[in-house]
Amino acid sequence: MLGRLVELEGDVLYQEPPAGTEAELGYTEGAVPVLISAPHGAKHARFYPEQGQRKPKDEDEFTAGLARLVAERSGAHVLWLRRKSDEDGNHDADSRYKDALKKLLQCHAIRYVLDLHGARASRDFGIALGTSNNTSCAPETQALILETLARYGFTEDGDQLQRVAVNHASFSASNPNTVTGYAARLGIQAAQFEANAHLRIPRRREDASATEPFESADPQGIERLVHALTRLVQTLSALEIL
Ligand SMILES: [Zn+2]
Repeated sequence: MLGRLVELEGDVLYQEPPAGTEAELGYTEGAVPVLISAPHGAKHARFYPEQGQRKPKDEDEFTAGLARLVAERSGAHVLWLRRKSDEDGNHDADSRYKDALKKLLQCHAIRYVLDLHGARASRDFGIALGTSNNTSCAPETQALILETLARYGFTEDGDQLQRVAVNHASFSASNPNTVTGYAARLGIQAAQFEANAHLRIPRRREDASATEPFESADPQGIERLVHALTRLVQTLSALEIL
């Protein structure tokens, strides 16, 4: 499974803007009402209003590959950033990423958006679940997400990589311009998942922005996360529309 993850991540060039007619964003159509999103799949640029300027931000390594792998296994739609961008699709109020997302939400019967991001290896959680402080999805959906993660060993009282932090101060998706907040405003239930580096990077690529070598200390944890997210898509897809 990790080989396939590396293969799917191969579509992404972290440091290269789109050349010629290349697409900046990737999209694969799905067959179920869930869209998986990875807006930080490659290097991007965030605007800091207090400094009046944009600064480059490192890619969330392997989140595009992870999104694509879960989509491949579950039939979800998937949208990802595949080239270096001068925008931040998860921070800018207006961006090409959000335009693309909006179009997809209008054209397809999508009821849920799962937005994937990356957290540093030193974080004391495996997964941070952000639901804009319990407002971006129904309480039942949030409970279902936590139940599904728990089936694969990720719980709120777990240790380190097994721990799920819910609406962590830094990862709550409470900024309305996050993909999660944006989708929720469009009436689509959404949640943000920040995966610890150990749960998504089998081995750091040579073109990564971070230069120190890195290898996951828990490759089985990456597989468990793929299984958990795949199961979550399947469960959400099977729910009756209320
Ligand atoms: Zn991110």
